[in-house]
Amino acid sequence: MAKVPKYVYFFGNGKAEGKAEMKNLLGGKGANLAEMVNIGLPVPPGFSITTEVCTAYYQNKQQYPKSLQKEVLAALAKVEKAMGAKLGDAKNPLLVSIRSGARASMPGMMDTILNLGLNDKTVAGLIAKTKNERFVYDSYRRFVQMYGDVVLGLKPVNKDDIDPFEEIIEAKKHQKKVKLDTELTAEDLEELVVKFKAAIKEKTGHDFPEDPLVQMWGAIGAVFSSWMNDRAIAYRKMYDIPESWGTAVNVQTMVFGNMGEDSGTGVAFTRDAATGENYFYGEYLMNAQGEDVVAGTRTPLPILKLKEQDAQLYGQLDKIRKTLEKHYRDMMDVEFTIQQGKLFMLQCRVGKRTAFAAIKIAVDMVVEKLISEKEALARIEPDQLNQLLRPIFDLKEKEAAVKSGRLLAKGLNAGPGAATGRIVFNAVDAEAWKNRGEKVILTRIETSPEDIKGMDASEGILTARGGMTSHAALVARQMGKVCVAGCDELNIDYAKHTMTVKGKVLKEGDWISLDGSTGQVIEGKIQTKPSEVLQVLVGKTLAPKDAPVYQTFEKVMVWADKYRTLNIRTNADQPDQAANAIAFGAEGIGLCRTEHMFFGEGKIGPMREMILADTIDQRKLALAKLLPLQRKDFAGIFEAMNGKPVTIRTIDPPLHEFVPHEEKEQRALAQSMGISYEKVKERVEGLHEFNPMLGFRGCRLGIIYPEITEMQARAIFEAAAETQKKGINVAPEVMIPLVGNVKELRNQEKIVRATAEAVMKEQGVRFKYLVGTMIEIPRGALTADEIAEIAEFFSFGTNDLTQTTLGVSRDDAARFLVPYVEKEIYAKDPFEVLDRGGVGKLMKIAVEKGRATRPGIKLGICGEHGGDPSSIEFCHLIGLNYVSCSPFRVPIARLAAARAALLNPTAPVKKTGKKAKTSGRK
Ligand code: PEP
Ligand code: MG
Repeated sequence: MAKVPKYVYFFGNGKAEGKAEMKNLLGGKGANLAEMVNIGLPVPPGFSITTEVCTAYYQNKQQYPKSLQKEVLAALAKVEKAMGAKLGDAKNPLLVSIRSGARASMPGMMDTILNLGLNDKTVAGLIAKTKNERFVYDSYRRFVQMYGDVVLGLKPVNKDDIDPFEEIIEAKKHQKKVKLDTELTAEDLEELVVKFKAAIKEKTGHDFPEDPLVQMWGAIGAVFSSWMNDRAIAYRKMYDIPESWGTAVNVQTMVFGNMGEDSGTGVAFTRDAATGENYFYGEYLMNAQGEDVVAGTRTPLPILKLKEQDAQLYGQLDKIRKTLEKHYRDMMDVEFTIQQGKLFMLQCRVGKRTAFAAIKIAVDMVVEKLISEKEALARIEPDQLNQLLRPIFDLKEKEAAVKSGRLLAKGLNAGPGAATGRIVFNAVDAEAWKNRGEKVILTRIETSPEDIKGMDASEGILTARGGMTSHAALVARQMGKVCVAGCDELNIDYAKHTMTVKGKVLKEGDWISLDGSTGQVIEGKIQTKPSEVLQVLVGKTLAPKDAPVYQTFEKVMVWADKYRTLNIRTNADQPDQAANAIAFGAEGIGLCRTEHMFFGEGKIGPMREMILADTIDQRKLALAKLLPLQRKDFAGIFEAMNGKPVTIRTIDPPLHEFVPHEEKEQRALAQSMGISYEKVKERVEGLHEFNPMLGFRGCRLGIIYPEITEMQARAIFEAAAETQKKGINVAPEVMIPLVGNVKELRNQEKIVRATAEAVMKEQGVRFKYLVGTMIEIPRGALTADEIAEIAEFFSFGTNDLTQTTLGVSRDDAARFLVPYVEKEIYAKDPFEVLDRGGVGKLMKIAVEKGRATRPGIKLGICGEHGGDPSSIEFCHLIGLNYVSCSPFRVPIARLAAARAALLNPTAPVKKTGKKAKTSGRK
């Protein structure tokens, strides 16, 4: 018989059965509770029920494994022994909390029950023990309320409804003419318990269970069930957490932060989770329970204040902070409770942080010798760099707005960055407005886990209540959203969809702006401006020494460059784009789409003349007009790239994309060409194709109209000659698109080389250049060995290669690709993340065949995938020399390439085409 697995792990009394490495089995919370016990921190005893039970529960019609009950009761007995108290004992009752704990943290998505074990009998025992009747009844009413909501399902039905328990509390406060919950007496609270139980019975038909064991199993079941609630499912989708992981359940002795003024509770990060600054960052509330801090119903105090209030306690906590960072070598997020002056740790986990903080903490920890450079790189998700490149407000406009009295209020700077949008008051509306193209600011009294989809749809989040560790603040930072929290001057009326502040009434749909770095809330729209990194690198309006964020960013880039083996190029068509990309670290241009240049100043006219020409002479005349314009563009790019390689692609798209389709424009063109309108119309119609993406485009254009290739090659080489004469090195690489047959390439190569030779002779200079091709249709990949006879480089055009391999039109795919991804037919949109199984296979074949013919062939990618971290990893794995992406993604690609190299150290490494053959003509 197979061995029955162990389902329950005890922790307490200085020794735990689990440890940090057992996250998969015990969940993050359970594993870390065990670890804290093992490193000697004060943790209330308890036990974890494994994630395997959750999986079994769902596989087996929500039944537990047979041995579970026995194991739970045995572990409970150990806890009772450790505490010298018993669950349900009228004289000395043990109270426990029941919490979820998945492998990956899912803050607030699943259910929690506190104070379990209270009933009409144990209440008396607890009063006798604590001599604090009010505290006991407060705990009791909280428990009944939570249990009623979570286990028995008594909660608001509609989004604007008030919570049924809150309604009862409000009625009581009204009756007693008091404002705060804390003003209610023990007697009032006792009455609330009775009323709560009656409401539960009336509205759900269930009795509130008095038996603590029944309570415990009910709560355990509710927590396991919450793994499949809507918000947990939505959260898992958003963060790619598989359903099969399941959650663990932690049953732990209650400690109370609401036992009087010498008790309290807090949430803290070992460093600032918003900025990454190295100081103890967190909040606490005296005489309160954890839910008060997280729910944001009272605004807590900064942890540094505790130093003034109780230096000894603060000292103990600060020591724990250091122990934890040293042990885990990371920034940790902790929850603690002080019960009558005694400190207990309730949770620790690796803290969520903003991109700013992630980068700063990783860099600082290298400097502090806590982690290595490699570890730092592994901890920064490439896409997080996006947040450093995120806009900030135009300071002058913001100042003017503030001066003119548009500053509405100031809250906590919970999620940095600048956001401007229209006010909506609930998450459902936020999603709906976003779907119709609006920018919104989700404005709530406080947020709850139900709101996450709406938060995700918003530019920024504004709450009236709650602190830096409230739900809104935590989740916003994790999502990288701008957030201003705890802005208590706001008076929000959900029913009327209005917000009153300083006597002003703002309605749904009004514009507001949030400065998540200062906490300011400003009326109206404010222009945003590039980030600090952009100001240093692109605008050059800020000196690096005055830009601390930039300095941190730069360190990461330096380390990334040290470990990556892929080169990073950029897709750029204009000198200014090229300059930006170089500022971001691009090492060359991987794709210059010459057709983009034809839309520039003065070029579209001659281009159209060229397309609509009737005879070769007419066409040549038009091309002669284009030549100097193209030459100028290329010269500008060569100059900006200063000797770095520049891959220039000959014209690619179908010609009809360039001609006018409106009568008015066609008439104007006819006039400028001196031909009839009818003629223009007829020629435009003649260019119509049923499937232009597979039609007259790519190298087919240059084969049918060789004079186009000749003009483009001449423009490139004349520009090269001109630039070289100025003393600036050039490295042109001429790329022929859409090649599927080596003969196509041979045809075009002849023209290019003959033109190069002619220009060099005419200009009396020699320069090196390459001729290569895009690999972007399957036949090209499959015959890459033949193509490599001619091509000195391949650049994978994975946009077209995806389109042609999958048989999915890149322009028409959205309609079915979104549902395809939802149905998991493709894990991700294959136009965004490379389809390794199909497109990737063809790439691999092309790499192998290409290198078999020409070992030094230079290999790169210039499809959009060149900027996607997962696709970059694949490019590393198959041994490409470089990836090419849009200028703003260059830093992301640098980091992604480094991570790929560190994760896959044995992958083939081919340094940039140093060995690549060139035409060798000096
Ligand atoms: C490609 O197909 O991947 C590519 C880079 O070319 P384009 O997107 O211009 O077709
Ligand atoms: Mg293409």
